[in-house]
Amino acid sequence: LTLKRKRPLTISRGTSGESENLLVTVSADGIDGTGESAPIGYAGQETKAGANELALVDFRSLSPWQIAEIEQAANEVSSSAKSALICACYDWLGKRVQLPVYKLLGLSRGQQQTSITVGINPPEVVSELAPQLIRETGTPFLKLKLGNPAGVDADKESFSAAREACPAATRIRVDANGGWTVSDAVHMVAWLQERGCDYLEQPLPIGSEEGLAEIRKVRTIPVFIDEYISSAKDVVKFAGLCDGVNVKLMKSGGLAEALRIVHVARAHGLQTMIGCFGESSIGISAAAAMGSLFDHVDLDSHLNLDPDPAVGLAMENGRHMLSEEPGFGTHLV
Ligand SMILES: [Mg+2]
Repeated sequence: LTLKRKRPLTISRGTSGESENLLVTVSADGIDGTGESAPIGYAGQETKAGANELALVDFRSLSPWQIAEIEQAANEVSSSAKSALICACYDWLGKRVQLPVYKLLGLSRGQQQTSITVGINPPEVVSELAPQLIRETGTPFLKLKLGNPAGVDADKESFSAAREACPAATRIRVDANGGWTVSDAVHMVAWLQERGCDYLEQPLPIGSEEGLAEIRKVRTIPVFIDEYISSAKDVVKFAGLCDGVNVKLMKSGGLAEALRIVHVARAHGLQTMIGCFGESSIGISAAAAMGSLFDHVDLDSHLNLDPDPAVGLAMENGRHMLSEEPGFGTHLV
């Protein structure tokens, strides 16, 4: 699938206007299940959705309900392609037993309202876009991308522009996508918490993990990490260095490991967030199926597609309303 964005999204590492995603279908017993892969594109991760890697594995001896064995067989497959495969199996399983996946997992339908993302933009664009997206979606949660390569003064201008332009009830959380040095981050976390920022995500780049200890000394708001966390094992490594983790299906390789991550994070007393890359509502519906497990929901990439190629996932006042159809309940149009 080539997906075009309504508005190109700029973060600390660059700008993307479209993405090449992959749909994976598993078929058995006359039932098809579908999952989606969106490329990750940082730190040596795959930039392609991974179709070729999946084609190298022979899954024909396995049934889609054998999720643990399929995860094993796909061990060498990149995490986003693996996620498409594993989510396709859950979609199949839901359809096979005639249950929406959230019920199959024993989870609730209810969940927090999603954050809506505003990328790195000049302050006059932030002033216009942030209140517009808050109004259109009905969510009170704005996720503002900082880590502007132009420096922290540009970040401050962007935050102030959003704060001024949005309704007083809007809660702003910040994601720097690793765009800061340790000293920038120590300075910015103090600046942001004075201005009522909800929480800060991924202040430091990959390779600067030990700097989290410095931020920890001065932070009074939760510091989440995202780029450092792909598996439950990673949570153990970072448990003493952060307050929360951002879980994404494309990083974890699907729902099964995402569930393990959230449980390990909780066991370590960490807060949890579920996020996304550039998925359409096919992939977003898979993440939203486990949305009730998370303190924060950040599943909005499909809202910025022109067009979203699928239907079935509704939203009310910024809250995902999971379909009661078997599986994930989303379909290509
Ligand atoms: Mg992030």
